[in-house]
Amino acid sequence: MSSTVLDLAYLATSVCFIGGIMLLRSPATARTGNLLSALGMAIALVATAAVHGLGNAGLLLAAVAVGAIIGVVSAQRVPMTAMPQMVALFNGMGGGAAALISVGEALHGADTTAFALALGFLTILIGFVSFAGSLVAFAKLQEILTGRPITFPMQKPLNGLVFLVLLALGVYGVGAGTISGATLYVFAAGSLLLGLLVVLPIGGADMPVVISLLNSFTGLAAAATGFLLGNNALIIAGTLVGASGFILTQLMSRAMNRPLTNVLFGAFGKAQAGAADVGERSMRVATPEDVALLAGYADSVIIVPGYGLAVAQAQHQLKTVATLLEQRGVDVRYAIHPVAGRMPGHMNVLLAEADVPYDKLYDLDQINDDFERTDVVIVVGANDVVNPAARDTPGSPIYGMPILNVDKAKNVVVLKRGKGTGFAGIENELFYKENTLMLFGDAKDSLAKLAEELKKL
Ligand code: NDP
Repeated sequence: MSSTVLDLAYLATSVCFIGGIMLLRSPATARTGNLLSALGMAIALVATAAVHGLGNAGLLLAAVAVGAIIGVVSAQRVPMTAMPQMVALFNGMGGGAAALISVGEALHGADTTAFALALGFLTILIGFVSFAGSLVAFAKLQEILTGRPITFPMQKPLNGLVFLVLLALGVYGVGAGTISGATLYVFAAGSLLLGLLVVLPIGGADMPVVISLLNSFTGLAAAATGFLLGNNALIIAGTLVGASGFILTQLMSRAMNRPLTNVLFGAFGKAQAGAADVGERSMRVATPEDVALLAGYADSVIIVPGYGLAVAQAQHQLKTVATLLEQRGVDVRYAIHPVAGRMPGHMNVLLAEADVPYDKLYDLDQINDDFERTDVVIVVGANDVVNPAARDTPGSPIYGMPILNVDKAKNVVVLKRGKGTGFAGIENELFYKENTLMLFGDAKDSLAKLAEELKKL
């Protein structure tokens, strides 16, 4: 009877998770999706506690309280630009928890069938790699460690050797019918070491892709734990996380036109090559007043947000400028590049914070042909995603990455602080083009001034 109740509860949980993921696909329904998934998790926890009991209830509830407080406070306080490292930390905890469950099972000498032992080793390996790797990712993004790739001679052979030692230990343990004592501790420590070694040589700006991959690993570790414990909810939830994390990783790599192997082993950001030859040409610098005149009397304006918008936290000022333009009868739309910013959906979330209507946001494929018919494009803190080198310069590090064709518009205005490069660290020919005006300054400040000038028209 109780197992039927539990199965039904887990079924409801799985439906909530799948429905939640589907709702997360649109900013309009994402909050509901999040709540639905949380409800699914609550059902699973309550049903498990009701059927299996709480065990050491005091300790368990204290741990839940500490975790909940840390989770709620940090999630509320984290600035949007620090969201990737927050995800890394949460994800790492998931991987670590899955691995610790397996260590706990091993210490209690639970199941010694070859299948259970293999699953145990696998969970410890994947879980601890994800845990240690996520901590390195966090440290790099938080600038506790350098964001540059940390490389040393014989790095890849060393990683390979550690992996082979772990494989040998695992095979030995399964063959010997044991996962205890020295084997267990050396295996756990080796897995943590591998997590560190694999992520250290990856550049800080590639971390979002790595975090997504580690997220997928955590899902796999959770699913393996589910098999170990015979827990269907864990198997389904873990598989969903594993699959969606992997799909996201693929999408991000594709949008940057970089194979995943290049992200993982390319040490991108170490050496900068392939800069556009911009010679001695100069940029055309504009004032907020010039830009207000240009955009305020245009028929159509496309706004292209990028990472700098997130740094400046200028989404509200941007919305004000857009509203002022619309009040003057200008058609205003937003072009969203899939990897603008530093995490998937970064721009969508920022603009949603400022209540920009979703139907004004256009994906690259939907809007790219419209630039040549557009009067003014306002680029706010975007660089790589509008760099024509990706389209025109074979040999450029970003060659082949799909870009927003803003250079084809009649006029382009670029808001950035100075001559800083973007994530790829390369020059951008767009800034030197005849139809481009540069409005230098922090985006928040520049947009506020632009709004003032628009009000004067
Ligand atoms: P970029 O990182 O290419 O450029 C951002 C620009 O913003 C910089 O040139 C900088 O110039 C400017 N900037 C920074 N702070 C401010 C500020 N306060 N006010 C105004 N401007 C500012 O951003 P993009 O969004 O164009 O491209 C994203 C890049 O990140 C791509 O290369 C992508 O591949 C990569 N990436 C994206 C991921 C994702 O999931 N979205 C994941 C991993 C990598 P200046 O210093 O002169 O102000």
